[in-house]
Amino acid sequence: MEKLFIYNTLSRTKEEFKVINAPFLGMYVCGPTVYSDVHLGNCRTFMSFDLIYRYLIHLGYKVRYVRNVTDAGHLEGDRDEGDDKFAKKAKLMQLEPMEIVQKYTVGFRDIMALLNNLPPSIEPTATGHIIEQQEITKQIIKNGLAYEHNGNVYFDVEKYAKSNNYTVLTNRKLEELLENTRELEGQDDKKGRLDFALWIKAKPEHLMKWPSPWGVGFPGWHIECSAMSTKYLGEQFDIHGGGMDLQATHHTNEIAQNIAYCGKSPANYWLHTNMLTVNGQKMSKSLGNSFLPMELFTGSHPLLAKGFSPMAVRFFMMQTHYRSTLDFSNDALTASEKAYNRLMDSYKVLQSIKASPKSGENVAALERACYEAMNDDFNTPVLIAHLFEAIRMINSAHDKKTALSQADIDLLHKIYQHFVFDVMGLKKEEETGKASTALESVMQLVLELRDKAKANKDFATSDEIRNKLTAANIQVKDGKEGVTWSI
Ligand code: AMP
Ligand code: ZN
Repeated sequence: MEKLFIYNTLSRTKEEFKVINAPFLGMYVCGPTVYSDVHLGNCRTFMSFDLIYRYLIHLGYKVRYVRNVTDAGHLEGDRDEGDDKFAKKAKLMQLEPMEIVQKYTVGFRDIMALLNNLPPSIEPTATGHIIEQQEITKQIIKNGLAYEHNGNVYFDVEKYAKSNNYTVLTNRKLEELLENTRELEGQDDKKGRLDFALWIKAKPEHLMKWPSPWGVGFPGWHIECSAMSTKYLGEQFDIHGGGMDLQATHHTNEIAQNIAYCGKSPANYWLHTNMLTVNGQKMSKSLGNSFLPMELFTGSHPLLAKGFSPMAVRFFMMQTHYRSTLDFSNDALTASEKAYNRLMDSYKVLQSIKASPKSGENVAALERACYEAMNDDFNTPVLIAHLFEAIRMINSAHDKKTALSQADIDLLHKIYQHFVFDVMGLKKEEETGKASTALESVMQLVLELRDKAKANKDFATSDEIRNKLTAANIQVKDGKEGVTWSI
């Protein structure tokens, strides 16, 4: 297997990737909180992990990819303050909280499918794992690192930090964290101000609540990921991922919970994706600068000049490395759409290239370079630069400036199949099922007949074909890069 290097937040370096029990590989990614529509920022994170998932599969790993659905226990603030996000929305919309959960889970899956993200192997929900969360909480109390007070259970961060490195993911000093956290108010049940809730007592009006050894309540947000990752991937697994904004609190607490529970740090590699920004500011619902994917596809957002297809959006995301910020703008999307179309047009041109006995290009070196890019922490911008070299080779062969052997033509097909379609998850826009595949073959045939007619100087027939296609709303374009068609 190829040597793969991955940037590990734990060590803050790129490390050679070693799997615990190859070819089996466990990957856990924090999923969406389904109380509102996912915005494009969330989509970026899930698309980045989809790319990683796809590449690991491509390398031959048998990946169990677990991405949870947070459908309970997420309060507005990360530190156990504010309203329950689901209850608040339910009240506002006069719905059952589980109706909110259903509505936005379905919406989330639809968007993921439109963006061609593969479904994870398991998508467990927090509400489906209340018992598991309680069991871990009980054990942490038994191990002396959590305490119950007035029906709430808190994790004792300062006690934990005495014998463990609580800030292992961020390398920040505990004193610094303490300085930045508000003082406890008199009525607080917490002992220390960094303590966080594992279980929260429900107020009588609270809708989503469960019985527990500590009274009726609901789990804290962080404990669900410890419970679900342990259940499906074991106490130690290979990769844990999420957006960078989860690193300092959610993931830091998750590691502490796991170590307090069983003495083991859950994942060997922690991967964090960078943020999608708008004018340099993180896209977020609370800042009011978020774009919904649908607004982007239809072009209905006031800041957009037109709509962009899901694949153009996917290509836009792939043009930036997952650990760099990506700024969203109409101009950047327009440029990506053009580049994506060039990539796809060249694929069509590739079908029509006639082989020469000898090749004037080094396609094998290009394939190696594509692997090198991906093995360097999934570097898609570099991969795309190499794919543009493939485009150059294809166009140059089509214009008869250089020659390509049959083996090299086959290899270019393979590069497209592996890197463009399988790994980056791009697909031809008109590819919506069997009907379109059949249409593609029929169009290929019709265009070949037209080419033959032209070659025989039978312009009446070639014009007739073109006119009839136009009448059927199929546009044929004779471009520099060959004949293309669109509906
Ligand atoms: P949430 O639904 O808020 O729990 O977020 C789901 C995922 O989206 C988390 O992994 C977040 O880190 C990630 N996320 C939130 N905002 C952004 C953003 N602007 N860019 C990239 N990822 C984001
Ligand atoms: Zn999580």
